Amino acid sequence: MAQTLDPTLAKCPLGVTSEQFVALAKTEQGIARPTAIDSYRRAFRDGAAIGPGLKVALAPVEQVLRDESPEGEVIKFTQKVAGVARAEAPGLESLATESVLIPMIGRTQQHTYTLCVSSQVGCAMGCTFCETAQMGLIRSLTAAEIVGQWYAAAFHFGIRPKNVVFMGMGEPLDNYENVVQAIAILKDHNGPHVPVSNITLSTVGRVEGIRRLAEQIKVEGWHRLGLAISLNAPNDEVRSGLMPINRRWNMQELQGALIEWPRFAGNKICVEYVLIPGVNDEEKHAAEVAAFLEPLRADDGIGPRAVLNLIPYNPRRSSPWPAPEETQVEQFMGWLGARGVFVKRRRTKGRAMFGACGQLGSERIRQRRMVQPTISM
Ligand code: SF4
Repeated sequence: MAQTLDPTLAKCPLGVTSEQFVALAKTEQGIARPTAIDSYRRAFRDGAAIGPGLKVALAPVEQVLRDESPEGEVIKFTQKVAGVARAEAPGLESLATESVLIPMIGRTQQHTYTLCVSSQVGCAMGCTFCETAQMGLIRSLTAAEIVGQWYAAAFHFGIRPKNVVFMGMGEPLDNYENVVQAIAILKDHNGPHVPVSNITLSTVGRVEGIRRLAEQIKVEGWHRLGLAISLNAPNDEVRSGLMPINRRWNMQELQGALIEWPRFAGNKICVEYVLIPGVNDEEKHAAEVAAFLEPLRADDGIGPRAVLNLIPYNPRRSSPWPAPEETQVEQFMGWLGARGVFVKRRRTKGRAMFGACGQLGSERIRQRRMVQPTISM
């Protein structure tokens, strides 16, 4: 008789790689490898309604917002996750992750989706232009809760995203272990099997975390993990005003970590720059950004090491700044291009439903503003 897994297996497959799952099935229930691998594959291939004996604890999808864009429908969704009990801050017993499915049309006209996942509920980094920062950090998500966002995309919405970006709520390097474990699961060929080159981790610039991740990407199978850095400013003065992290690690230290980022064929560093009118959009700012990127433009025959991703500011609620005009965006791109910077523009999608970059975050929790932004270092 074929062996079957007991659904009471301690770990839901969303939180473990196939190899970890095999080991658990063996030690907890004496299940042989082929049965365990088969169950794991079916969990990720067929969805939650699988059997025999495998339980996927998927956080329920709660709120779904949809918005049309020229490339298709943008879908923002939340999933209910366990809250935290804090005597000094009641009302956090129920929390939600936020994710956005972003449609893309590729060069060959194929329609695909990028899934933007959250790594935390709220964020401690306190960037002044960001909606999520207004919440403060409530808690970090587990690996299973992060992978659960992919699972909801695949089996609740029927969309298998081509790319996964860690650009939702939270600072991924502030939740290092869970994020690295989630990436290991997402790229598992027995699981979601998202190519590592299609996964991007975006950080505010936690230099110690970048150096740690630099060691991780030296491991076979991790070389082409995408790294994105939120630069957003031309100099330390502006950056420290926008991003408190800069007071801990300034732009020179950040630049040093990026120069040391291991170079493998095709892996680029995406430098993100949110263009905010009246703050960082002058020609002299473009010149400073170009100077910052200069050591990252070394042509070693593989192509540009760093690509600047220009993001027109999406106003958060009660924002002191407007979104830039189209002409301002074009002009800034022109100034950068004239200085030899390889620059791409990110098209804004989902702004109307607060699903665009820098706009995620629970209004309910934000209004309470119980948790002050802090940077633990
Ligand atoms: S921009 Fe990113 S790192 Fe900064 S507060 Fe928002 S979520 Fe956190």
